[in-house]
Amino acid sequence: MIERGFDFTKLYGRIVRYYLDKRRYSKERANEIAQKVVQRERRIRTCQKCAHLTYDHLRNYESCLVGECDCQKFERPLA
Ligand SMILES: [Zn+2]
Ligand SMILES: [Zn+2]
Repeated sequence: MIERGFDFTKLYGRIVRYYLDKRRYSKERANEIAQKVVQRERRIRTCQKCAHLTYDHLRNYESCLVGECDCQKFERPLA
C-alpha cells in the first residue's frame, strides 16, 4: 500500500484534543506536546539526502518523485 501525503495538521489537532480532553492538560502544555510530536514525525519522514518527505519517494522508500530530484533511495535519519 502506498502511503499518501501525511497530514501533519490533522495529527497535531488530534494530539492537542487528546491531552485536553483525556489528560486534562492546559492548552499551552497540550500545544507544546503536539508540536514536539509533529516535529519528530516530520523528521523521521524526511529523506536525509534530498530533504523531501517519504511520500515523495516511490513506494515510500525508493526513487524520489519530485521533478528535478535525482535521489535514488530514501535515506532514513539516524536514530
Ligand atoms: Zn527528493
Ligand atoms: Zn531522497
